[in-house]
Amino acid sequence: MPLAVVHSRALSGFDAPPVAVEVHLSGGLPAFNLVGLPDTEVKESRDRVRAALQNAQFDFPARKITVNLAPADLPKESGRFDLPIALGILAATGQLPAERLSNYEFAGELALSGELRPIRGALAMTLKAHRDGRAFVLPAGSAEEAALVKEAIVHPARSLLGVCAHLTGREELPRCEAPEPKRGKCSAPDLADVRGQSLPKRALEVAAAGRHSLLMLGPPGTGKSMLAQRLPGLLPAMTEDEALEAAAIHSLCGRFRLEDWSRRPLRAPHHTASAVALVGGGGDPRPGEISLAHHGVLFLDELPEWDRRVLEVLREPLETGQINISRAARQATFPARFQFLAAMNPCPCGYLGHPSGKCRCTPDQIARYRSRISGPLLDRIDLQIEVPALPVHVLPGDSPNAEPSAGVRARVFAAAARQRARQGKANADLQPKEVERFCVPDAQGDSLLRTAFARLSLSARAYHRILKVARTIADLAGADALAASHLAEAIGYRRLDGAAG
Ligand SMILES: [Zn+2]
Repeated sequence: MPLAVVHSRALSGFDAPPVAVEVHLSGGLPAFNLVGLPDTEVKESRDRVRAALQNAQFDFPARKITVNLAPADLPKESGRFDLPIALGILAATGQLPAERLSNYEFAGELALSGELRPIRGALAMTLKAHRDGRAFVLPAGSAEEAALVKEAIVHPARSLLGVCAHLTGREELPRCEAPEPKRGKCSAPDLADVRGQSLPKRALEVAAAGRHSLLMLGPPGTGKSMLAQRLPGLLPAMTEDEALEAAAIHSLCGRFRLEDWSRRPLRAPHHTASAVALVGGGGDPRPGEISLAHHGVLFLDELPEWDRRVLEVLREPLETGQINISRAARQATFPARFQFLAAMNPCPCGYLGHPSGKCRCTPDQIARYRSRISGPLLDRIDLQIEVPALPVHVLPGDSPNAEPSAGVRARVFAAAARQRARQGKANADLQPKEVERFCVPDAQGDSLLRTAFARLSLSARAYHRILKVARTIADLAGADALAASHLAEAIGYRRLDGAAG
């Protein structure tokens, strides 16, 4: 048969669209033409495939070979198509039974020896291949993560010869078993290690319970970063679907590790990070920090030091839970549903309100410093709290009764269960219509909210955020109604709004 078709996958953002690798043989001068790959990658792929076939003792046909990767408009990195191209040539020349190819998808980069090298994105590709009802043959180094997809049939292969032996029925490839994820103890540090700061700890508990975004304002050394690092340890483990999505994103970056399975990530990029590093991008778009934080926590320290244009990009994912990246003619979408955590100093020198009294910043300088964070971004943060400097007489070890994370976690889990039962999602994710339905204050609470709204000149967005946070506070208390005390606490978490700033 002079024509063969082999199924494979491209990677486009988080998607893995099907690619048909068509190999056609014809008369004429011997040639090896590759259509549908970027020019720069054609030569390398041709050389690898030819060498691998010859080194595996197959006949490389002295005919005109045309390989077409369809559809033409998908982004394609050459490496992953080496294996399907080589198999297509073998099938088109009758060295392999073509009819068995249709039940499988293949991806893998060939070494010149014919060995298979791992590829990135195996998990995202397998999710799709499994949905289309085909088994997937992958390099052994990529197969383990792919087998995390429940019931997917994944065959790990070490070499081109191994794949051919499987297809001719000489020696079956093993089927990769889903690896047993090490669901060990949570590695997050414990809340009991943070001395003092009972109010910020309470705010962290509220944030964890409703998946709310949180901004901490305070001098250096008061434990803002320590608190941030302890948030993932307060959150419920990921569901199976969440864990698969998060793992697929890490697999796109070639960074998936089995020990991270279902563990909520904490990503804390430095303020010198570029927009591409933060939100993703590049010629062949890769996920950024916000997507690596998907279903976990994104922590930005020193918020005013970040380039304002970089921060503005966060508005889209904070609203929609995903990020669209356009680059030249290409569009890529990555999920980015993260819990947003940020910290900043209260003034340029950092010591405003510190007992040492060493701050000499003028009100003007302070206002300018704080205005580096745009109103619209601030508006999207549910809780804004102060993490004050500790009185000098509080020393390490002074708070022996500090509650460990386990106790807080139990309350957070119970509150999260209430939210799931009531509305199927976290309070932070409630839409305006749902806020009106699920976050109705009682009479006293309503009048308290009206007074605060007028006095603090809150935006409509801030109003909804207060209601959502009050809902979480009530859920932590196991209460159905939103009482004045719940609303008062929620209003107290808007330290940077209006007059309260
Ligand atoms: Zn200062």
